[in-house]
Amino acid sequence: MTQKHPHKESYHGFEQGPIRPPSEANSLLIRITRNCPWNRCSFCPVYKGKRFSIRPEAHVIDDIDAVHRHVLTLKKLADASGSILRKDINEHMRDLPDHEQQAFAAALNWFAGGMRSIFLQDANSLVIKPDSLIRILGHLRSRFPWADRITSYARAHTIVRISDDDLKRMQTAGLNRIHIGLESGADAVLVMVRKGVDKRTQIKAGQKVKRAGMELSEYVMPGMGGRELSREHACETADALNQINPDFIRLRTLAIPDGIPLADDYRSGRFQKLSDIETVREIRLFIDRLEGISSMLTSDHILNLFEEVQGRLPEAKPDMLAVMDRFLALSDQDRCRFQVGRRLGIFTRLADLKSPKRLARVDAFCGQYGIAPDKVDGMINEMMTRFI
Ligand code: SF4
Repeated sequence: MTQKHPHKESYHGFEQGPIRPPSEANSLLIRITRNCPWNRCSFCPVYKGKRFSIRPEAHVIDDIDAVHRHVLTLKKLADASGSILRKDINEHMRDLPDHEQQAFAAALNWFAGGMRSIFLQDANSLVIKPDSLIRILGHLRSRFPWADRITSYARAHTIVRISDDDLKRMQTAGLNRIHIGLESGADAVLVMVRKGVDKRTQIKAGQKVKRAGMELSEYVMPGMGGRELSREHACETADALNQINPDFIRLRTLAIPDGIPLADDYRSGRFQKLSDIETVREIRLFIDRLEGISSMLTSDHILNLFEEVQGRLPEAKPDMLAVMDRFLALSDQDRCRFQVGRRLGIFTRLADLKSPKRLARVDAFCGQYGIAPDKVDGMINEMMTRFI
């Protein structure tokens, strides 16, 4: 807070954005930009109504320095095994001025998670000038030389505009994983949800990231084509990924909370949302079409019906398909029980249906709320919007 900045905007202390990928739960979050420069995707609730801005580089450097100071303090407070007494943390926090509290909380969370990775926020950090990003990466590396991963979200539209040389310089400076919201490889779906990129751009961006030597995570949104474009969505998305071969393919099933543009289309009937069973059929087709790639497919989002549909391609493909086939072959009643139990966190795998204790809890819940196979999808939709 002592440093003077030659910018109009004054520094108000450490900042943190609203989201990070599930796989970055233990990462230190460093906010480079605020919100999303595109912000038009009809399925995305995260930054609606918020203006995009680039934070002054000096403010980002101040954030990094603040966390660094607190990490040094935490290292001093820790015993030989790395543990810190709660009372020592409370005492230290009592003496901190208000503007330092958030940086301390971020440092503490990172310290507790092992301090291995850093995630740059918000939706599209690569939109800033390459030289500025490279200076920030250099500062992160000099302050936290032990961290072995620095990652960021980026839009495909932005990546294709960065030269291969600049991407390589970012990788050399420490940026070693990019998360891209591919969502779909089908142009008709991308246009419908106003993603602002086409399939060709998605493929080009993914291939550029890989060429730069960075790890690549591509997010796919099952259900995003609705009933009308479900097949096209599955096949074209698989085809795009077959041409990219990302390190990770991460599934995050569509949910439609109130307040997003897609909710109007859904209510008016212009968008027909898939049921759970239709979504499973779509995911099955999508995975079946993944060919010739060695990506790790993960299902690490609570919105997904199956946590166990994951594994390294191509070896894990038969097992993933078999899980979905087993689900589709269940009786209506058992499918309904699994859908409910999974969303309540009672089940994690299909085999949990064999646990009498867990089954009894699910049956009690279904009995209490009158949930039957013919009504389960409405109730699931309602529950899913609460997970966002
Ligand atoms: S680009 Fe990403 S963050 Fe921005 S509106 Fe689309 S989905 Fe949301």
